[in-house]
Amino acid sequence: MYLYSVMPPDASHVEEYCADIIRQRDEGIADTPLLMFELIPEGEPVFDKAAEFCRVLDLYSERLLPHGIRPAVLVQSSLGHVYELDEPAAMQKIVAPQDGSEISSYCPLDENFRQYFYRVMQRIAQSHPSAVMLDDDVRLIARPVYGCMCDRHLALFNERAGTHHTRESLYAYLTSHPKTDALVQLYETVETDTLVDCVAVMRAGLDSVDPTIQGICCVNARCWETDRTAPVFAGKGNPVIVRAANGTYAPPDVLNFSDTMRRSATIRQKFAGIADVIIAETDAIPYNRYGKSARYLHAHFTGTLLDGLQGAKHWITRLNEFALPSGEAYRRILGENAGFIRRSPRLQRTCNGAAVGSRCRARIRASAETVILQHVCLNAWVSRFIFRHSRAVRYLQTAT
Ligand SMILES: [Zn+2]
Repeated sequence: MYLYSVMPPDASHVEEYCADIIRQRDEGIADTPLLMFELIPEGEPVFDKAAEFCRVLDLYSERLLPHGIRPAVLVQSSLGHVYELDEPAAMQKIVAPQDGSEISSYCPLDENFRQYFYRVMQRIAQSHPSAVMLDDDVRLIARPVYGCMCDRHLALFNERAGTHHTRESLYAYLTSHPKTDALVQLYETVETDTLVDCVAVMRAGLDSVDPTIQGICCVNARCWETDRTAPVFAGKGNPVIVRAANGTYAPPDVLNFSDTMRRSATIRQKFAGIADVIIAETDAIPYNRYGKSARYLHAHFTGTLLDGLQGAKHWITRLNEFALPSGEAYRRILGENAGFIRRSPRLQRTCNGAAVGSRCRARIRASAETVILQHVCLNAWVSRFIFRHSRAVRYLQTAT
């Protein structure tokens, strides 16, 4: 069982947060804190964010190691989640193929970007975290803009394809040919190759100090690219661990539960034979304590465990201000059911909860696009099925 809990690297409340982390471990809520580092490059010259964050990581480690807890790091932003930066670094941004505009995320082919993250990972490794998790902004073709067509990317594509496309002509070609077209497939391969190479540079930064650190990748919502980045970032000899993209941050109602289950089932199928371990994305919205009930979070976690996942990245702590009691309900329900959670691998083999995922998988195709289309029809059916037959949900109903 792999149980992580996202926590803030807050130098002004080290004692309080570390006491809470120890409590989470002692009560079986989560074994490892994931300190959230926003490392997307900013400033000119670029700020040394890693040095500042790692100074706090060292304080946490000093306090937690005697209790047998080695913190881990969540690299919450690297390429970028597209939100605007106050002081963007002078590095290549992703260029939208549609219109040539730059979006507020970095191109993974930029050598300065790669070298920045080599140094960042090297600095993190010097603080010896137990694991480093890359968030799902590590994506390129899976973005709505469909990859990057900066000059470097365009030149690389033309070189490998033997063509002389401009951005306009290539985009016109891509949007007028099927996905099975050789040139369309080559475009996606070239884009993904550059992302994988960038992740390999990040991993090399860790390896230059400590090759044993576990690397973890977060699957993006469209399931692309992580199948290739996760084995590269895991580290030699380590299990390939991915975090599923089945976050339901602020569920509008309980019927939404089927969508949560559908996404974890899809990812379990997609990553069979690629990932050794898949963990759930049980996140509550971190900046709205009323966004997700503790019972929904627990049902979310239980459902995905019964469907074969092997842990979770919990986000049960308010980060934008010091307010530990706002996560108390999450801690209580996860702690009360810690024994049940630890025994869930045995239940996976016997309970109807597994059948929910199996039936989902039998009805859906491997491609995320198809799943999204079919989900419209499946949603009501799966909801009815879950509520009538799933032991996971009977458990939820009993708890409720
Ligand atoms: Zn580019």
